[in-house]
Amino acid sequence: MSKPKPPVQPGERITLPITGQSHTGDGVGKYKGFTVFVPLAIAGEQVAARVSRVKKSYAHAQLEEVLQGSSHRVAPPCPVFDQCGGCQLQHIDYPAQLASKEQQVVDAFTRIGGLEAEILPILGMKEPWSYRNKAQVPFGGRKGKIQAGFYAAGSHQIIPLDHCLIQQPDNDRTIQQVIESVRELDIPPYDEEKHRGCLRHVMVRTGIHTQEVMVVLVTHGSELPHRKQLVAHLRERIPGLVSLIQNIQSHRTNVVLGKESRVLWGEPVIHDRIGHVRFAISPHSFFQVNPVQTEVLYEQVRRMAALTGKETVIDAYCGIGTIGLYLAKDAAQVLGVESVPQAVEDARHNAELNGIDHARFEAGPAEEVLPRWAREGLRADVVIVDPPRKGCAPELLDAIVNLSPDRLVYVSCNPATLARDAAYLKERGYTSRQVQPVDMFPHTSHVETVVLISRIKE
Ligand code: SAH
Repeated sequence: MSKPKPPVQPGERITLPITGQSHTGDGVGKYKGFTVFVPLAIAGEQVAARVSRVKKSYAHAQLEEVLQGSSHRVAPPCPVFDQCGGCQLQHIDYPAQLASKEQQVVDAFTRIGGLEAEILPILGMKEPWSYRNKAQVPFGGRKGKIQAGFYAAGSHQIIPLDHCLIQQPDNDRTIQQVIESVRELDIPPYDEEKHRGCLRHVMVRTGIHTQEVMVVLVTHGSELPHRKQLVAHLRERIPGLVSLIQNIQSHRTNVVLGKESRVLWGEPVIHDRIGHVRFAISPHSFFQVNPVQTEVLYEQVRRMAALTGKETVIDAYCGIGTIGLYLAKDAAQVLGVESVPQAVEDARHNAELNGIDHARFEAGPAEEVLPRWAREGLRADVVIVDPPRKGCAPELLDAIVNLSPDRLVYVSCNPATLARDAAYLKERGYTSRQVQPVDMFPHTSHVETVVLISRIKE
């Protein structure tokens, strides 16, 4: 049966009730039964919007007027909220942001998964601002007039910004010091169009427990004019600076870091802790950007894993080993697997740093390594998975079933693929018992969830 024609045309002004938020934070409603996405509209509102794009089964429309506002609508505190695109939900008060994230998890489990797990109230932050430990800022402008800020949404035009509300204030100050120093020394920015010049990005990371600061200057070539003076300036001006690094990215690409890093001054890494575990963080390491909520998240993983000291635990998609090492003191053995070899090296180093000698890490795709482990006769008591947005490959889920753990703890940044995988596992004897959403990224539309999945006893 062919679908009926969309009841809207581009350019048409429509009024409609908004009934929910999409996974990108847009308002969603129906117009004559047809789904319409309206950015900046809020669930519960009645709005007028101008249709911009029409697809077969949905349309996009620009908000023109809020006819009946939501009591959760607030003035976005950031002056560049609508230009930056980094946050999507600043126009919604925090309790309603949390409610909408929780609802997305409920919807995914009921609609996609057809599952009936217990869904616990989302764990939000007491202070949902200034949480990010990492900032990455592009340079632009021209020689003599270098600028740093963010790219205006959908473009590569730099808009200067000296204070980002979700960033730790120390990171903002560090970036300002870098900008001032490169201005004084007149170091040229990289010019994307001509593919020449020098400074592309500055990346800053701070260890919240150690107050150690890493600054990475990403340059187009290996040359860095006035290098000595720049190092002297930054050492003098940035309190807590422990590691000053030049990274070279010579390709035409949006990828921020290149392969090669050189220490300009200090150490090649900084350290931070998650709970009781210390981590060394290099420029390339994946490290959670909201350290406060990372502990909240990992505590939920620990609670659900319910280890007694006797278990073999697999940490799949382990990154630099964070979850496995966090759980290691309560496990007999930890086996981590991760596809990025550099991250695996970091994980091994981090195990050593913490005197943990019963954790092993292997580089490779989890969907190949776990089936091999299962074939080799390995049995696991608890499996942790923390996949990227696309979720787990079916081969991986099959391998987990073959490893026959009692429990699986699934950490997910995408409720839709989580529910799909949970439904797949349910058909194979593993059911979702408890679902705990955690807000890792306040004011953005990202939703994080931890789920306890355990074997259905016959
Ligand atoms: N558990 C870690 C990292 C989670 S991010 C933490 O909490 O910090 C997801 C990780 O999965 C990334 O490190 C990514 O490199 C890795 N990854 C992506 N696809 C993979 C695959 N097919 N097999 C193994 N690891 C993969």
